[in-house]
Amino acid sequence: MTALRIDGKSFAARLRALVKEAAGAIIRDHGVTPGLAVVLVGEDPASKVYVGSKQRQTREAGMNSIEHLLPDDTSQDDLLALIDRLNADPAVHGILVQLPLPAHIDAAEVINRIDVAKDVDGFTILNAGRLATGQRAMVPCTPLGCMMLLRDHLGDLAGLEAVVIGRSNIVGKPMAALLTAANATVTIAHSRSRDLPEIVRRGDIVVAAVGRAGMVTGDWLKPGAVVVDVGINRTDEGLVGDVDYDSAAQVAQAITPVPGGVGPMTIACLLANTLTACCRIHDIPEPDLGTA
Ligand code: NDP
Repeated sequence: MTALRIDGKSFAARLRALVKEAAGAIIRDHGVTPGLAVVLVGEDPASKVYVGSKQRQTREAGMNSIEHLLPDDTSQDDLLALIDRLNADPAVHGILVQLPLPAHIDAAEVINRIDVAKDVDGFTILNAGRLATGQRAMVPCTPLGCMMLLRDHLGDLAGLEAVVIGRSNIVGKPMAALLTAANATVTIAHSRSRDLPEIVRRGDIVVAAVGRAGMVTGDWLKPGAVVVDVGINRTDEGLVGDVDYDSAAQVAQAITPVPGGVGPMTIACLLANTLTACCRIHDIPEPDLGTA
């Protein structure tokens, strides 16, 4: 058996086209242009690449991209003052602070200063709490993208066993919350889990969000599992995921590749969240982007 390759790149392109169409309609019918403000502090090369892609794709979707590129020695107070200005700016509907922030910055304080209505990354405590308690939330982009791919492939997830490897606030925990809300039976594994292969073998769905190249191999998987590989690991062989694609593809039903799987979905979902935030702020009916 060779697993189906879940094409996140094409799916993300379709989602971006939907966002662009919906943004055009909002501009035309309501005279409002959705705007995303991106804040980057410092010179981290990977962050610069991500921020560049986000800016380009925001503009390509017909929305405004507002960039704030700040020096590495920006103070906490100056950063908080900028967030306050963006919170108050009617042209800004989404605010994204690129992580990681320099060590002298209290990232939690900065993130939680973002107006919950403009928190398009879904990283504020308020949004995380809303998601955890089943209220309408702004959902973090990477887990949202994973859910869209899973739903597209599997339809109803009710009753399926899902194993999420990783418990970070930005991927693992919100992923588990979304799967739980979709009525899957969810196990969260992490670095202290015992006998990880045995746990992973339970999964009809396996989401790997660890940051260890090729850690999940085919012999860990239940035959017919659907595998979502969130990992992005830079190796001598280039960019690879947390799943050993070749061995996993012999056992799984379907699997997302790296690159071309979850990665493109993350930015497409950021655009979708910005549009959603704009609609909610202006009381405009939300278009159906398939994110609900
Ligand atoms: P974190 O480092 O914050 O979390 C990693 C998680 O993996 C932790 O919960 C950790 O456990 C767990 N872990 C580490 N080692 C093991 C192990 N040996 N066995 C089991 N679990 C382990 O990472 P993120 O959640 O931020 O990101 C995870 C990966 O996803 C990274 O490769 C990152 O680059 C990628 N990523 C990709 C995105 C995309 O758009 N495609 C977006 C965001 C992230 P513990 O809690 O016990 O330490």
